[in-house]
Amino acid sequence: MKLRALKLAVCFCGLIYCCVFYFAQEDGSEKLNSHQEGDSPHFRFSAIRSRRITSLQENLDYFLEVRSDWGQNDNVLFKQETDSNEGKNLKEIDDFSRVITLSDIFISVKTSGKFHRTRLQVILDTWFSKARPQTYFFTDTDDQEYQQLTGGHLINTGCSDSHTRHDLTCKMGAEYDAFISSKKRWWCHFDDDNYVNTYQLVKMLLNYDWRDDVYIGRASLNHPFHSVYNGTKVDFWFATGGAGLCISAALAAKMAPWCSNGKFVETSSQLRAPDDCTLGFVINNRLGVKLTQSNLLHSHLELLHELPTKTMNTQVSLSYRINGDPKNRISLTQPFDEARDPTRFISLHCILEPTAHVCKINT
Ligand code: UDP
Ligand code: MN
Repeated sequence: MKLRALKLAVCFCGLIYCCVFYFAQEDGSEKLNSHQEGDSPHFRFSAIRSRRITSLQENLDYFLEVRSDWGQNDNVLFKQETDSNEGKNLKEIDDFSRVITLSDIFISVKTSGKFHRTRLQVILDTWFSKARPQTYFFTDTDDQEYQQLTGGHLINTGCSDSHTRHDLTCKMGAEYDAFISSKKRWWCHFDDDNYVNTYQLVKMLLNYDWRDDVYIGRASLNHPFHSVYNGTKVDFWFATGGAGLCISAALAAKMAPWCSNGKFVETSSQLRAPDDCTLGFVINNRLGVKLTQSNLLHSHLELLHELPTKTMNTQVSLSYRINGDPKNRISLTQPFDEARDPTRFISLHCILEPTAHVCKINT
C-alpha cells in the first residue's frame, strides 16, 4: 500500500516537472523571437510592453520619448498597452486608457480640385509625410495623379466646387461621416492652407480624454455668435475652421442627430451659417459642451507674422494667405526665399525636419 502511494507521488512530481520545463521553454522562445526582430517596430513594441509602468506621468514621459520620431510605424506602438496592468491601481489603469498616439486621430483636410496643385501639393511636400495613414483629403473632383500621390487618401465627396455655405458644409458633413466610420478616438479637421505639426497635435490632445465631450479650437470672435434656428434666437461659441479643430469620439457620437448622413447640410441651412459655425451650434448650443480654446491653433485671420520664430516648433497649426497682406504669413527668413516658398511652410518644415526630401536645396 505504502509502495503504491510512493509510486503515485513520484509520477505526480514527474508530471509537474514536465509542465514546468515545457512552459519555461515557451517563455524562452518568445524572448528569442522578439530579440531576432532586431530594430523592427514589433521589437520596440515588445520592449515597451514588457516595461513595468508605475505612474501616469511616467507613461506620458515615456510616450513622448518613444514618439519623438513623430510617429513612424505608429500603428504598432502602444495600441495594446493596457494588457498588463501589473503594478497599477485602478485610477492609473483608467488614466492610461486615455493615452493616445497619432494612429488614434482621424485627420480630415478640406480641399477642392482647384487647389490640388497649389495648396494640396504643399501639404504633400511637408507634413503629410508625418501622418500619411491617418490623413484624408475631402475634395470635389476625381484626380488620378493626386489620388496616387496621397496613397488613395483623396476622397471625392461628390459635393460641388464652390465656396458657398452649402458646398463647404457638404464636405464637412462627409468628413464627419468618415470620422465616425473610422472608429478613431479623435477627429481633427483642417483646411488645405494649414500646416499641422502632428507631434504637437498629439501632445495637445494628451491633455484631454477622448471619452469626455471635448471640443478644442480657436474662437475668431470674442463673443458668442448670434443666429436664428427654426425661428428661435440662438447664441453659441464656435471654433474657426481655418485654424483647425478637434472633437473627441464621445462628443462626435452625440452630434449624430444633427450631423450624420447628410443632416449636417440641413442643420447648416436651417441655421443659415457656415460649416464651422454649425459645428459650434450643435456642440455648444444643442449639446451644451463648452469650447476649449487653444492658442496653439492658428488661422490666417491672425497677424501670423507676429508669432515669435522661437515658438514656431510648439504651434499645432499654422496658415497663410498668399494674395493678401504678408502679415498673414509666418515670418521665417530662411532657409528658402519667398519665390521658392511663398507659403513659408517648406521653410518651417525644414526647420522641424531638416532631413526631409523637400529640404534638399535643389528640389
Ligand atoms: N474651399 C473649397 N471650395 C472652394 C473654396 C474653398 O472647398 O470653392 C475650401 C478650401 O480648400 C479651404 C476652405 O474651403 O480648405 C477655406 O477656403 P479658403 O482658404 O480659400 O478661404 P477662407 O475661408 O480661409 O478665407
Ligand atoms: Mn483659408
